[in-house]
Amino acid sequence: MDNSQNLSTLGEFGLISRIAAGVSTADGVVTGIGDDAAVTAFTPGMQLLTSTDMLLEDVHFRRAWHDPYRLGRKSLAVSISDIAAMGAIPRWALLSLAIPGDLPLDFIDDFTKGFLSMAAEHGVTLIGGDTCSSRAGLVLSVTIMGEQLPDLILRRSGAQSGDEIWVTGTLGDAALGLKLLDFGSAQPPGLALAPSCSLGGAEWHEHLISRLLDPAPRVIAGLALAESGLASSMIDISDGILADFGHIAEQSGVGGCIRLQDLPLSAEFLRSTEMSDEFPYQLPLSGGEDYELCFTASPLNREKIIECMKKCGVEATPVGIVTSLPGVAVIHADGSPHALQNKGFNHFK
Ligand code: ADP
Ligand code: MG
Repeated sequence: MDNSQNLSTLGEFGLISRIAAGVSTADGVVTGIGDDAAVTAFTPGMQLLTSTDMLLEDVHFRRAWHDPYRLGRKSLAVSISDIAAMGAIPRWALLSLAIPGDLPLDFIDDFTKGFLSMAAEHGVTLIGGDTCSSRAGLVLSVTIMGEQLPDLILRRSGAQSGDEIWVTGTLGDAALGLKLLDFGSAQPPGLALAPSCSLGGAEWHEHLISRLLDPAPRVIAGLALAESGLASSMIDISDGILADFGHIAEQSGVGGCIRLQDLPLSAEFLRSTEMSDEFPYQLPLSGGEDYELCFTASPLNREKIIECMKKCGVEATPVGIVTSLPGVAVIHADGSPHALQNKGFNHFK
């Protein structure tokens, strides 16, 4: 590509062509980027699932922390995660950009490469979008479409009293990664970090930061749970398990009890923190952006779920129980209640 160009020489349509140049044709895409609307053909018998997400500079990401390639990946990953959380197959995406005029073209090229790499990993095709200039920061909006057979779609509303509450992967890594970035080389206040932990540069810090900057949506696990019929409800964890299981509870007309000692923590999380009274339980409970799945299932399915998730290369952990009483409680190993500090990220609170 010609790198002597910039946004103003390229213009809106030049930029759209530049983005479109990286997109290949795909099954189901009858007409892609370039016409007034995209035309797609979805699999007969399936229903269409649609979700949209915005990412705003200095609200959802900072350009100083987020390299454009991983920003491109994440902007699509968070949308794919919504389709995964319904147990559906991600298919098509629309990308809308509001770009500050002085943004280097290299930034957009790397962003697009990242976006398209995430798309390729999950069989998603970019079929359109919108492009305009911004006077206040970079704005990214991604719309994703997926499909699934009607009977397999997993909703937030299916949890039953007596079901177990499960999570995939580990919790709190992304939130700890954010703390590490936020405080640079200083000790984050209120966070008990291991004494051996020299901030900045440790390999496990890279892992935690990468969980924040480049999350992996759990598409295969979500699909396997839908196809096996083992789960009764599902959601992706974008605002912390407490808030996100809370949505399941509310929409299912149930409550839940989460066991603190069972929350799955990564080796990197444990190495970077210290088990003490000040242990940062807050992060696995209410830290955002893990993009793991939280689902509920009958206790009779426990072994089958472990087996099914193993086949997907994903660890899944039962962390609590669905109760008929509304509200979500968190308990310590001895059964005593854990005092909750905050329920997860909420834009207007
Ligand atoms: P219209 O004026 O009819 O809305 P546009 O000029 O906005 O059309 O877009 C022309 C084509 O380019 C459309 O197919 C649109 O979906 C696509 N497009 C615009 N911006 C993007 C983008 N950021 N990424 C992918 N496709 C885009
Ligand atoms: Mg348009």
